[in-house]
Amino acid sequence: MGNITLENVAKRFGEVEVIPPLDLNIEDGEFVVFVGPSGCGKSTLLRLIAGLEDVSGGRILIDGQDATEASPAKRGLAMVFQSYALYPHMSVRKNIAFPMKMAGMPEDEQKRRIDAAAKALNLTDYLDRRPGQLSGGQRQRVAIGRAIVREPSAFLFDEPLSNLDAALRVGMRLEISELHNRLKTTMIYVTHDQVEAMTMADKIVVLQAGRIEQVGSPMELYRNPRNVFVAGFIGSPK
Ligand code: ADP
Ligand code: MG
Repeated sequence: MGNITLENVAKRFGEVEVIPPLDLNIEDGEFVVFVGPSGCGKSTLLRLIAGLEDVSGGRILIDGQDATEASPAKRGLAMVFQSYALYPHMSVRKNIAFPMKMAGMPEDEQKRRIDAAAKALNLTDYLDRRPGQLSGGQRQRVAIGRAIVREPSAFLFDEPLSNLDAALRVGMRLEISELHNRLKTTMIYVTHDQVEAMTMADKIVVLQAGRIEQVGSPMELYRNPRNVFVAGFIGSPK
């Protein structure tokens, strides 16, 4: 399961309404990309879904259950941070194990999940290294591995590739898309990069100033942008 529904979800920081009330439905298994310029509220929206920020209004349903007040750990979602969020003093194995250890999972189950994640991400030969001894792409895979072992009902990515150079970014995009094809788990992916949105998404959510300008498949947005902003941002010239 991995169905996420936002009903009238709003966020203000003090006096400033960063996200006016919005509705959004994310289907189980979808790859959804939130795209929009810097400062438009992408990270805030993702953090509201993750439970890292409290909503100022509205409800968040996860698999039909009201999760608006649930702690991040209870939501069953895994946030993938940029690779620099790894613990530098721990081995890859320990970095990946960390969330399971915190949850008190039995060691043999931890090992089974680490081995499966390492295999899926081509990290088997690197489990005893530290993050500093890995390439940028490998470090990003460790960050993803740390999410996979939790077997979440959805993965939340916040600009996970923005630290990588252009060539590596293209490869990692493919890897994440392949991972989605294999796991068929809901993924929400935040980026300001139109190409990433167009190449990775089943469904794109275009944001501007906290508002949803349009939701649709890459082809729908490209062919029928609803307004000049969407057209300028990802659509064909009109
Ligand atoms: P994006 O991820 O699209 O670049 P953010 O969600 O980080 O945008 O930010 C959206 C807006 O909310 C920005 O104007 C930002 O300054 C503001 N903002 C984000 N977090 C906070 C916070 N903790 N306190 C006050 N304002 C914030
Ligand atoms: Mg952001």
